[in-house]
Amino acid sequence: MDNMINVKINGIAVSVPAGSTILDAARLAGVNIPTLCFMKDKNEIGACRICVVEANEGRGYRIVTACVYPVSEGMEVLTNSAKVQKARKTTLELMLSTHNKECLSCVRSTNCELQKLCREYGVDENAFSGFKPTYEIDYSAAHLVRDNNKCILCRRCVAACNEQFVSVIGANDRGIDTNIGNAFELPLNNVPCISCGQCTVVCPTGALVEKDDTPKVWEALNDPTKTVIVQTAPSIRATLGEWFGNAPGTNVEGKMAAALRRLGFDKVFDTNYGADLTIVEEANELVQRIQNHGVLPMITSCSPGWVKFCEYFYSDLLPHLSTCKSPHQMEGALIKTYWAQKNGIDPKDIVVVSIMPCTAKKFEIGRADQSASGYPDVDISLTTRELGRMIERAGINFNALPDEDFDDPLSEDTGAAVIFGATGGVMEAALRTANDWLTGKDNTEVDFTGVRGTAGLKQASVDINGMTVKVAVASGAAAAKVVMDKLKAGNPDGWTFIEIMGCPGGCVNGGGQPYQPQYIRDTVDLKAVRAKALYDQDKEMPLRKSHENPGLKLLYSEWYTEGYGKGKAHHDLHTSYVGREKYDYCK
Ligand code: SF4
Ligand code: SF4
Ligand code: SF4
Repeated sequence: MDNMINVKINGIAVSVPAGSTILDAARLAGVNIPTLCFMKDKNEIGACRICVVEANEGRGYRIVTACVYPVSEGMEVLTNSAKVQKARKTTLELMLSTHNKECLSCVRSTNCELQKLCREYGVDENAFSGFKPTYEIDYSAAHLVRDNNKCILCRRCVAACNEQFVSVIGANDRGIDTNIGNAFELPLNNVPCISCGQCTVVCPTGALVEKDDTPKVWEALNDPTKTVIVQTAPSIRATLGEWFGNAPGTNVEGKMAAALRRLGFDKVFDTNYGADLTIVEEANELVQRIQNHGVLPMITSCSPGWVKFCEYFYSDLLPHLSTCKSPHQMEGALIKTYWAQKNGIDPKDIVVVSIMPCTAKKFEIGRADQSASGYPDVDISLTTRELGRMIERAGINFNALPDEDFDDPLSEDTGAAVIFGATGGVMEAALRTANDWLTGKDNTEVDFTGVRGTAGLKQASVDINGMTVKVAVASGAAAAKVVMDKLKAGNPDGWTFIEIMGCPGGCVNGGGQPYQPQYIRDTVDLKAVRAKALYDQDKEMPLRKSHENPGLKLLYSEWYTEGYGKGKAHHDLHTSYVGREKYDYCK
C-alpha cells in the first residue's frame, strides 16, 4: 500500500502511514514507550523527554523523542536499550531535583504517573541537588489546589485549558524559574477559570488536584447531632468502579449504594430523582417560552462549568439560560424542605453531601440563590475521586460488596434521568417529555438517537406534533463558544433548544472523574464507553420518561400543588445568574 512506511521496533516489523511518529509505530507494534507530556492530538510537544528511544536511519543509532519524531523507511528503533534506560532515569532524577517528594501523603500517591516511572526506573531521588525554587500553594479557588512544587512542567493542563477555549493557565517566567500559572501570577479565583477541572484530570502528578472536602464529610458523619444525607449524580455509577480497578464502563450502582451506607450516611439518595425533576421543570419552562414568546432558544443550565463560562464570556446572552437549578441543587432543596418536614427534622441539622463528576459543583454550591430552605441546598460536594478515597480509608472492600438499592423516596427515577450523565442525555430526556406533552399522547418512541454520540457539537431536527424543532447539543467549552457565537450572529440555524455541558463528552468525562493514565486516555474512548453504560441501563428501565416518575407525581400532588414552575416550585427549584465579564486582572 502506498504511503506506508516499514520500520522495526525492537526487531518487530510494523507498517505505518507516512507521517506517523515512532510512538505511533510502537503502539501499533504493541510496544509500550513511557510518556509524560504527551497527549494524543492535544499536547504533542516533545518537552519532557521521557519517551526517548534509539533510532537508526542508516547512520547509526541516536537518541530521539518518540512522540514527535517521524518514522522513515527502514528505520530501526530500540525502545529499551541501556542507553535509553539511562537517559530516562537521568531525566526523572532531574525532574525530582526540583520536586517536593511527599509521596507518603500526596493525594496522587499510587496513581501518580511520575511516581510510577520513578519506581520502574529505580531512580535516586537525591541524585541532583542545588537551587530548588519553592512556590506558594494556591488555595484561592473553591474547586482546586495548585501546588507548583510538584509540577513537572509537562503542560498537559495548559493544553486541556486551551482545549476548553478558556486558556487561563500557561507558562510564566523562563529557565529554572519557569512555572505554570495565571497571567500576572494572579490567584486562580481572580481569573476567568470556569472551574471545569479538566486540568486536574490530565495532570500526571499531585500539582493540580481538587480541593479536598472529605474532612468536612468525616466531621459531619461523626457528629451525632447531624443527619447526613448523600446523593450521587447519574454518571458516578458508570465511573466509580474504575477507581477500584474495574474496566471503564462498568456500572457499579448497587455497590456504590452499599459503600455509601457503610460509610455511615443516614440516607443514600439518587440524584436521578433530581434529574427527572429538572426535566419536568425545564420542559415546562421551554413550553412557556414557546407559548408566551419568551427568549429562545432556551439553553440548559445543569452544568455549572458551562454556566460560569456563559457568565464570563457571553453575559449578554444569559437570558437564554433556563432558570432551573441543576439536579443536585434541586435534590438538596427538596431534602431540606419537603423531606425535612415529612421527617420532622430541622434543616439546620441536615448536612447534604453530593457526589459529583465535576469540580465546578464545588463552586456552584456556594452560589447565591441556592438555599431554598434558608440553608445551602447542598453543603459539601465531592468528586468521584474523593468518594473513592473515602471508601479506601474506611477499609471497605468495594468489589466484594453486595448490590444494594438507594433509599426511598428521593431516589425514584426513570431512564431519562440515567442518561443525564452523557452529552445529549439531557436533550433526549427533555425531548421525551416535550414530545408527550405537545402531542398529548403517551408516545412509545423514546430513542432520539440524533442527539447521541460524543461529537463536540451535534444538531438535529425533531418532528413534534407536526412542528419541526431544531436543537443543538454542545459539550466542552470550545463547542459552547461555537454555539454562542452563532447566537450572537442571530441564530442562523434556527435552534429552539440547546443543551450545553462544560466538559467534552458531558459528565462522564467531568473534571472530577477517576484518573486514567494518559496512554489509556489516548487509546480508549472513555466518553463513549462510560456513556454506553448509562444508555444500556436506560434501555432496561421500566419507565423512561421523566414525567412518568411516580415520585414526582406525588411531589406535585402534595407539595408543589401550584404546578410546574409556579409558586413554591419556582422559589425552590429555580435560580438566577450574574455577569462576570468584569473580572479584575489588576487588583
Ligand atoms: S506528585 Fe507524585 S511523585 Fe510527587 S509527591 Fe506526589 S505522588 Fe510523589
Ligand atoms: S478548571 Fe478548567 S478553566 Fe480552570 S484552569 Fe482548569 S482547565 Fe482551565
Ligand atoms: S500542573 Fe500538572 S499538568 Fe500542569 S504542567 Fe504541572 S505537572 Fe503538568
